[in-house]
Amino acid sequence: MLDDKDRIFQNLYGQASPDLSAAKARGDWKDTAAFVKKGREWLVHEVLISGLRGRGGAGFSTGRKWSFMPKDSPLPSYIVINADESEPGTCKDRDIIRHEPHKLIEGALYAGVAIGAHVGYIYIRGEFFREAEVLQKAIDEAYADGLLGKNAAGSGYDFDLYLHRGAGAYICGEESALLQSLEGKKGMPRLKPPFPANCGLYGCPTTVNNVESIAVVPTILRRGGAWFAALGHPDSTGTKVFCISGHVNTPCTVEEEMGIPLRALIETHAGGVRGGWDNLMAVIPGGSSTPMIPKDVAANVTMDFDSLRNVGTGLGTASLIVMDKSTDIIEAIARLSHFYMHESCGQCTPCREGTGWLWRLLKKIGEGEAEISDIDKLEDLTYRIEGHTICALGDAAAWPVQGLLRHFRPELERRIRLVAG
Ligand code: SF4
Repeated sequence: MLDDKDRIFQNLYGQASPDLSAAKARGDWKDTAAFVKKGREWLVHEVLISGLRGRGGAGFSTGRKWSFMPKDSPLPSYIVINADESEPGTCKDRDIIRHEPHKLIEGALYAGVAIGAHVGYIYIRGEFFREAEVLQKAIDEAYADGLLGKNAAGSGYDFDLYLHRGAGAYICGEESALLQSLEGKKGMPRLKPPFPANCGLYGCPTTVNNVESIAVVPTILRRGGAWFAALGHPDSTGTKVFCISGHVNTPCTVEEEMGIPLRALIETHAGGVRGGWDNLMAVIPGGSSTPMIPKDVAANVTMDFDSLRNVGTGLGTASLIVMDKSTDIIEAIARLSHFYMHESCGQCTPCREGTGWLWRLLKKIGEGEAEISDIDKLEDLTYRIEGHTICALGDAAAWPVQGLLRHFRPELERRIRLVAG
């Protein structure tokens, strides 16, 4: 269990002000010039040894991502922060932005130095209207205090940071679609390679990082990469902001150590499963795109990248959706399929056609109007979508259905037989 002194986000619940003076009182912007002056190599090294893995879902090493940026490009480099948090069940970046915006802004400066960027953009989800207001106010405060702009924080490094509001499309959380949208185009994913480190925003070298990944960097630098690496799990170091929603007594967002047992996370912070642990049916552990796990698996798994992968799911955004025995599990996954169908940008046939097909088949099965053979058809369809699309939305649509079939196939058969009589 995470010790209070090791909590990075001391104001996650907004008990104190997000303003600059309060942020400074919590230790933000302390020794900033000294860290910047240590230079690019030092910053990348410190984040590398911390073991920090991206908090947006993919879990790629943040330090390694930064190290891919070219050092001698004649083109400008950009740091882009993905604040387009839209994954169902996920609301961690929102709390960071509205209550700890200065951690994000200070982290953006360090990330800029680490990749050689003098300009950064924060792309925020359009619906986060109040959060955008808080963030813009914090950026304005930082400029007024000399922490951004020319000679940022007295470091000798020039760094400008801009806030850009999206227009509410889930797909703009995919990094290449985000860059397209930032350029003023339709937010549609583009083929990779080239990767953003070589050809990103305006065709220039770009790193895209998640809000939480950047907001933890100032504390990592202050306390040392080794401190962060000593927390959590060997392959999943540090702390993590978890979101717990669904059928729990006290849904919440909480910072905990990586590797905490899933059951302890729910029982310690979310008041336990509604009706008790034995009333649990399944948990989606990492935001809506990660496959669900049933109660017996959830009872023994820990919340880290490797352990969750080993049970056929993923840490994703570390956002748990808890479903008790009152859940219509087929309808729940059909609802997610409808979401992915609605958010598909339509470029790839398997995603454009397949997501709608998944939803229609699930509805048919849920209403008992399907044939038993439709279950195999449903499964086959998920594998024809997964891995056959430009971006990961296709996978994200297929995985929840695969999780349902892996653990609740008898329920699908029962539903069909029930109506067939
Ligand atoms: Fe668009 Fe779906 Fe293809 Fe992604 S997978 S590019 S969302 S059609």
